[in-house]
Amino acid sequence: MGKPTPEPFKAIIVGAGITGLTLANIFKRIGIDFILLEAEHKIDRRVGFIYGCWPYAARILDQIDCWNDLELATDTLAEHEIRLDDGSALISNGGGIDPNMLVSPLLESEREATDMDLCLSRFGYDQRVTERHILVRILLEKLGGDPRVITGERVATILHHADGVQLLSQTGHTYSGDIVVGCDGVHSVVRRLMWERADEVQPGLISTPDKQGDRAKTG
Ligand SMILES: Cc1cc2nc3c(=O)[nH]c(=O)nc-3n(C[C@H](O)[C@H](O)[C@H](O)COP(=O)(O)OP(=O)(O)OC[C@H]3O[C@@H](n4cnc5c(N)ncnc54)[C@H](O)[C@@H]3O)c2cc1C
Repeated sequence: MGKPTPEPFKAIIVGAGITGLTLANIFKRIGIDFILLEAEHKIDRRVGFIYGCWPYAARILDQIDCWNDLELATDTLAEHEIRLDDGSALISNGGGIDPNMLVSPLLESEREATDMDLCLSRFGYDQRVTERHILVRILLEKLGGDPRVITGERVATILHHADGVQLLSQTGHTYSGDIVVGCDGVHSVVRRLMWERADEVQPGLISTPDKQGDRAKTG
């Protein structure tokens, strides 16, 4: 008898927001097996706010074949309107930022940032403005109803084994894989569990300033 065929590498992605769905699309395209666990029952809920897509993100969305759909569903930054509390326009159709509305003069770089022709010629993509749920819907549709996207599963515990990880959800289901990728947002359970695990292995490994995000704030 030959050796048993090893199980293919499998990633468990926790959270089906923009990050988790983008990663699932990347894994699908390059043939890495995955499970995507989402706490909510409906993924493309109308939650969240504006999503501004800059060229560096556009390139990734293009590589996973989502850019054309986003272009069809959105405005460019120049077409988009942002109004102040009194209804006056800070950014309005085609006009870029109104300099009279600003407390300090526009930097050249800020003026350039709203010039769509310049942006297109420099990067090959313009800047798009939409709502979070529209991008989420596009990313979800690209996965084409993949059964590896599992909703209604809020991850509660992660168990570490010599040959991989096991995730337990609040509904009592178990999922096994090789790695966990925490895409579960700003209040990430995966991050908290990872810190707890790090503290067990090497107390103090993740410093308090790191946990409070101070490094991100100070650069
Ligand atoms: C007012 C505002 C304006 C913003 N504007 C922009 C902008 O213009 N451009 C931009 O790029 N970004 C913008 N952002 C930031 C952007 O919204 C976030 O960076 C982005 O939504 C984060 O995506 P995510 O997928 O990491 O997390 P989320 O969108 O938070 O998704 C996390 C997902 O994980 C799920 N989840 C949570 N816990 C669990 C669990 N235990 N088990 C399973 N699933 C779980 C949640 O239900 C959710 O679906 C803005 C944010 C705010 C608040």
